[in-house]
This record gives sequence, C-alpha cells and structure tokens, in this order.
Amino acid sequence: MQPEEILDAARARARGLEFPRPPEDPVLERVRAESAAWFDQLPEPPLYRRMDDPARKRAEELIPLGQELLSRCLAMARHEAVKESLTPLIAALEAHLATLCHTAEGRLEKAERSWHTALMAERAVGRQNRLYVRSDETPRPVYDRLTGASRYDPGAEPSMTVKLVCPLRNCAAQERYRFSPRYSTHRFTCPKCRRSFIGYFGEVRAVELVRRPGLVHYLFKVAELGGALSQVEFDETSGAEFGVARRDLLAFLYDQDRDLKAVLNLSSSRLLWVHKGGGCFIVTAAYGEGARELAAFRAFRDERLMRTRSGRVAVRAYYRFGPVAAKWVRRDARVRRLVRAGLDVTHDWLVRNGYR
Ligand SMILES: [Zn+2]
Repeated sequence: MQPEEILDAARARARGLEFPRPPEDPVLERVRAESAAWFDQLPEPPLYRRMDDPARKRAEELIPLGQELLSRCLAMARHEAVKESLTPLIAALEAHLATLCHTAEGRLEKAERSWHTALMAERAVGRQNRLYVRSDETPRPVYDRLTGASRYDPGAEPSMTVKLVCPLRNCAAQERYRFSPRYSTHRFTCPKCRRSFIGYFGEVRAVELVRRPGLVHYLFKVAELGGALSQVEFDETSGAEFGVARRDLLAFLYDQDRDLKAVLNLSSSRLLWVHKGGGCFIVTAAYGEGARELAAFRAFRDERLMRTRSGRVAVRAYYRFGPVAAKWVRRDARVRRLVRAGLDVTHDWLVRNGYR
C-alpha cells in the first residue's frame, strides 16, 4: 500500500459528496475540531522495525477516519469561498495519512520524514486564525555556534501579544496587548473607551455543554497560562454557536466588576458574547422566547441602565410591574402587535447605538 492509493480513495469519495452551499462557520469548525481530535490520537512512528509493533496496527486503524475527514474537506473546498481557509487543513490531513501509511507498512525512514512534514503542516493549521503570538514559541538551538548562545542561558523574559476585543459590548474595540505568559490574569485598559477590563487566559482541556430551555450552560476545564488546572462555568442565554477544540487558547473577558462579558477563542478568532438571563418580560412576551431581538435590550439594561442610580430604580420597577404587563401582552394579539411595533423602533435605535 502506498500513500497515493489512500489519498486517491479519499479523493474519489470526495467526488461523491455534495455541499450545495458553501459551508458555514459551525460546519468548518466541526471538521477542524474532529481533525484536531484525530491528530491527537496519531502515534509517533517507531524508531526501529518490529514485526508486531503496536504502532503499525494503530496506524492502520486510524487511516479510515483520516480518509473520511479528508474527503469531507476536499468536497467542501470545491466552494471558492472556503477553499483557501481549508488548504492548510487538507495539507495536514494528507501528510498525516502518508505517515500512517508508511508506519503501517513498516517503512520507517519514510514515516519519520513524512511525520516531520505532517507536524509542520499541522502547526500551520493551528496558526491560521490565531490572535496571539508567544515570544518563546520557536525553540532556540541547544547551542548556536555563531553566537555562542545556548538554550539554557537565561533568556529574555517571555512575552505574549494578543489581539483582544473590548468586552464592553457598545465599545468592542479591537486592540493588541502585550503581557507576560507567566500569569493567567491580566488587567487591560481599552484605548478607545478608557475603561479597564480583565482577561483570564487558559488552554482548553475539556468542555461540557448542557442545553436547557433558553440557556446553554458551559463548563470549561482549562490549563492556565501559568500551568495550573482550573475551570470556568457560566450560563449563556443567546444560544449562539461557539466552536471550541481541545488545546484552543481562550481569553475570558470580564468587566471591572468581574462580570464575565465575553469569551474569545484566540486559536480560531471566534467570539462569544455572554448574554445573561433575567426576564425582559414584556420584550420576551412580544417577540417570543429566545428571539434575536432580546440581546439588544439585555445589553442596554446591563451596560447603560445598571450603571446609574436612576437606571437601577427603573430596572427594579420594571421587574416589579413587567410580569403583569407581560401577561396582558401575551393574551391579546392586538396589544402584542402594537407593543411590538413600538419595541421595533426602540430595537433599531439600540442596535444603531451599539447594543446587540
Ligand atoms: Zn472599550
């Protein structure tokens, strides 16, 4: 068996797969996550030949799933819109499949060379949509003959540069920040709105999602930048999709009151605005549970009303009388239409002013 035969079989299968529309982000995210999980299982080629090496058998077992992932990527890449973004993943899948083929057949020198190519290709996939750079990422040579420097010399303090989004939703300015990766929690000041916020950084070890009516409960187990294991738990009510794979680096962004506002996946550039529950009774009654419009009203409540005394009084009054009014809105279709027309105007104003 040769790598070309394995790749040709995957290409043939891709021709039979149809993606009528260019795949959207969640679909791409899924194939990226499944591929990352597959990469994690791949055995390093053995160093010397043995008849019954377990790595040979393991390599053989892992080929079909790799072919399946490759054919899906190839079929999706027929759409020009996503072709470029899939190219590095396709290269990594092909290189790993070639390695597995050589390993399974016991061609160890070829497997070794192909393994290095595959790792480089896999790293390129990881860097594709990344929002961060670490100064200590590329290992220094053990001993550099030219400069006389050794990897074990005390080096410069490592630093990390990340592109973050301001977690105040009506600002949301994007900016680069630099800090020491020795610590996992850092305070930043947004240069646009001048407000400070807190970033907490961790690499995903595991994620659990529980969907309940009207909310998604997230539990992230993370390895903090400093190395310690920890977990972050919260409820999110917009139900927005948020793709995460193991080893992704996440930034949990809190406002000055340590209230979680957003989670940014620094490995894939995906952003989740954390919407808190709490009934906007009338708005919910008019638009229906889980409606898209609710987010703008909640953002306005959290970011504008709750920040002033008179706003807090208004919110309290609303929570007192809202449920009664909401019942009336729910019961009468004419009232509902009327209220909704009024709310539509308000909603447009909120969105124009950055609340969403
Ligand atoms: Zn800001």
